[in-house]
This record gives sequence, C-alpha cells and structure tokens, in this order.
Amino acid sequence: MLRPDALEGRIALVTGAGRGIGLATAKMLAEAGATVWLNARTVGSLEQTCAEIGNGARAVYFDVTDPAAVREGFVTIQKECKKLDILVNNAGILRDAVIEMASVELMDDIWRTNLRGVLLCAQYGARLMARAGGGSIVNVASYIGRFGNTGQAVYGASKAGVIGATLSLAKELAARQIRVNAVAPGVIDTDMIADLPADKREKLLGSIGMGRPGTAEDVAKLITFLASDMAGYVTGQVVGVDGGLVI
Ligand code: NDP
Repeated sequence: MLRPDALEGRIALVTGAGRGIGLATAKMLAEAGATVWLNARTVGSLEQTCAEIGNGARAVYFDVTDPAAVREGFVTIQKECKKLDILVNNAGILRDAVIEMASVELMDDIWRTNLRGVLLCAQYGARLMARAGGGSIVNVASYIGRFGNTGQAVYGASKAGVIGATLSLAKELAARQIRVNAVAPGVIDTDMIADLPADKREKLLGSIGMGRPGTAEDVAKLITFLASDMAGYVTGQVVGVDGGLVI
C-alpha cells in the first residue's frame, strides 16, 4: 500500500468504476490521496459509492463507445478540476465466441468498448495531462491479449490492440512526461468470470501457479503503483498480474 499522501493533489479518472477492478482501483487511488472521478454508464449509479470513497470522489457518466459522450465527460473534468493526472482505462466487456460463431455485432461491440474506448479516453486524457505538465495512463489489457485462448479471438484481438496502443502511446507521449503502461490480469474473481461454467472455471484455476484466482485488489495495487511516482521512470511496459498463470 502506498503512503496515504502519495497521490495527494492528484486528479484521477477510472473508467468502468462501478464494480470489479475499476471500483477497487478507484478506492485504492483515493486511499493514496487522489481525488477520483469514477465513470459508469448509468446516470446516478455511483453517487452512494462516491460518498463512501470520500476525498472528493465524483461521478462522471459516459459510455466509452460513444465518442461525443466521452468528450463531454472530459470537458466536465477539465471545467471542474482544470487538469487530469491519472487515467485508468479499465472499462471492458468479455464475450466469448469461437470464430465460426462470432457475429459482426459481437466484434464491433468488443472493439468499440475494449479498444476504441481506450483510444478515445487516451486522446482526451493526454490533452489534459499535457497541459498540466504530465501524467500517467494505465490501460487494463489481459493475459489473453498476449497469449491467446480458445474462443477468445475477438476479445484477445481487442486486448492485443490495447497493448499495441500502450506501446505507441508511451513513445508518443514520453516527451510530454506522460507515462503509459498496461496491466495484463490473469483470472480475476469479478462479475466478468462469474458465469463461467464450473468445468471451465476448475480447469482455469488449475492452471494458476498460485492456486487461486486474483482479486480485484490484486490488480488495483499494481495499477496504483504504476499511476504513482513510485513508477516515475516506468513507461511502455505491460505488467502481468496473474498468480503464475502464464509461467
Ligand atoms: P466487470 O464486468 O466486473 O466490470 C467491467 C466494468 O466496465 C463495469 O463497471 C462496466 O460497467 C464497465 N463498462 C463496460 N462497458 C462499458 C462502456 N461501454 N462504458 C463504460 N463502462 C463500461 O469486469 P472486471 O472488473 O473483471 O474487468 C475490468 C477490466 O479488466 C476489463 O477491461 C476486463 O477486460 C479486464 N480483465 C478482467 C479479467 C478478469 O478475469 N476479470 C482478466 C483480464 C482482464 P456496467 O456496470 O455499466 O456494465
């Protein structure tokens, strides 16, 4: 855990912060002193959560697949806070389909959310960060984007895209003191994997060296570290957090 004042004075935005990894990250950033903007799609859904998180936490509602809404969200942050120091591109969806069954709609849904959403938020986030003299962007990728998986060509392509975007953005933005890194979680116990059939879940857990799925907090700790000055010379990295799934 970082010191409670490690992120004091920092303004952070976490997309998809209503639950899972996003919510755990928003809480952890706030515990380290940041003022956090939590994003969700459903207007009004985060007011209680923001009150519980405290430290000035606020909600900003937009769907990352809607370019105009994303722009509006960043305009709100700019108006209210004048700057952004930390952007966590976490919002994502998982829909499995073997390639013969993957519809165009499924492909578009996944890429618009998992990849174009990240690029749009990075675009507006980088503009705000550049004006403030720098910042940190952390993109939530996946081990699937590095190592692949049956039935996950579409999801895996979106996450491989996030990794590719991370590398290019890191090069493009380094001179403006904006660091860009990605985390690649393994199997994390959130709603996203709650519907896995028991046999598939058991097989997955069996392949994790540490013998347990990760928690949202396991991922949030890494994101918070990468967002902080503790990682002040780290950029263009893809860091796994998977309990030994891929070793
Ligand atoms: P959850 O399904 O618990 O949370 C996903 C979050 O993303 C929700 O808050 C959801 O909001 C939000 N979201 C989805 N689509 C949009 C959108 N269009 N605009 C705004 N917000 C959106 O999943 P996790 O917490 O597990 O996943 C977080 C990230 O981690 C994802 O990018 C996922 O791909 C990645 N990941 C997860 C792994 C796991 O095993 N759980 C493994 C590897 C990577 P809403 O409540 O409105 O649906």
